[in-house]
Amino acid sequence: MTEKEQKFQAKARAFVERNLAPFAEKIERGEKEAWDVIRKFGKAGYLGTRYPPEFGGTGLGLVHEVLVTEEICAVSAGFDMARVASCILFAHPTFEFGTKEQKEKYLKPVAQGEKIGALCITEPNVGSDVAGTETRAVKEGDKFIINGEKRFITNGPIADFLLVYGITDPSVKAKRGMTAFIVESKWKGYEVIEEYELLGMHGAHVGHMGFRDVEVPAENVLGTINDGFKVVMAGLNAERTILAAEMNGVARAAMEEAIRYSDERMQFRRKIREFEGISFKIADMSVKLEAARLLTMKAARLIEAGLPATKAAAIAKLYACDTAIETATNALQVLGGIGYTRKRPVERYLRDARLMSIGGGTAEILRYLIQREVYKEHGL
Ligand SMILES: Cc1cc2nc3c(=O)[nH]c(=O)nc-3n(C[C@H](O)[C@H](O)[C@H](O)COP(=O)(O)OP(=O)(O)OC[C@H]3O[C@@H](n4cnc5c(N)ncnc54)[C@H](O)[C@@H]3O)c2cc1C
Repeated sequence: MTEKEQKFQAKARAFVERNLAPFAEKIERGEKEAWDVIRKFGKAGYLGTRYPPEFGGTGLGLVHEVLVTEEICAVSAGFDMARVASCILFAHPTFEFGTKEQKEKYLKPVAQGEKIGALCITEPNVGSDVAGTETRAVKEGDKFIINGEKRFITNGPIADFLLVYGITDPSVKAKRGMTAFIVESKWKGYEVIEEYELLGMHGAHVGHMGFRDVEVPAENVLGTINDGFKVVMAGLNAERTILAAEMNGVARAAMEEAIRYSDERMQFRRKIREFEGISFKIADMSVKLEAARLLTMKAARLIEAGLPATKAAAIAKLYACDTAIETATNALQVLGGIGYTRKRPVERYLRDARLMSIGGGTAEILRYLIQREVYKEHGL
């Protein structure tokens, strides 16, 4: 890291300790008011690292986003999942493909933490295969009428703005007939069908959402009509890199808890860290976290330099997710019985870590992408 990056990281860590740590438990319990802390993050510029000041950001770029993501996630992964859904999954396509008016109206308030965004791709019959999208958007005069259901939508029940994908030309494959729309949740016909109870990532509100004859003005098309697939694909590598950083935060928090506990806990008249069965677990955690961070940083720097990063981002996310699950599992082992209770946060880290092998590209889809790139590199 450069000196500037190191200073940014230290500042972000102090900010998170001061402003998020005191609310982490409340967020975990789902107290909605705790979510107000997001505004402080907006004011301090931690929601807009990838957007220029004219749209409420700091313009520092993806590497800085990766740094702040790890810091936040080490304290509250549920909060960060909701933050990322808003200020990256919703906001970044709006920044990349939006008109000046759309950015002013929809990106700026999200980057400043005044409004919440969400991304709506997944449907009851559409998961990994985004090209199977069933939600329809039919043009009527200067409006589109959207009908369909989207599920597992992070922030769906609390969002102000939604980025929704719908089929506008059913006569061709979805890749050539899908369009992205910005929808306001206050518009008639948008409804919460169900809010899910989750294994982990508590505090994030994830819902099954309905769109019943939602009228969307044509000016709210994001990008070009029928070219929505391009909008979906454009940000994927950066999103995966950010999700990898999230998991590095969880892994770090789990490792730090195991380090502290193994230095305090006495058995057989010794600190348990003096047993290799314990201290070698700490060594393995450290090796894997270091590797996961380097892979994440490599992907972020490739993307920032405008270089191909499909393989690097997939590797970073796959490895960081596996590392977070393994590290949290081993940290729980180091803590023994107390680790299995809610008196210590390790059980939370394990539950939080489990999500990211599914969300934002499953481990299987990532392996598919990696092998495809590897064969290509070998001319096959
Ligand atoms: C808590 C949470 C939050 C989420 N937030 C959002 C959000 O904000 N917005 C949004 O749009 N979506 C969101 N998602 C959805 C998430 O992106 C999907 O769950 C994910 O893409 C997988 O889709 P699926 O669950 O339908 O699984 P499926 O695609 O049905 O997969 C089921 C299993 O089959 C495997 N599989 C599928 N296809 C293949 C293949 N070709 N080769 C090998 N294996 C395969 C998968 O890897 C998986 O193991 C969220 C999900 C969760 C759980």
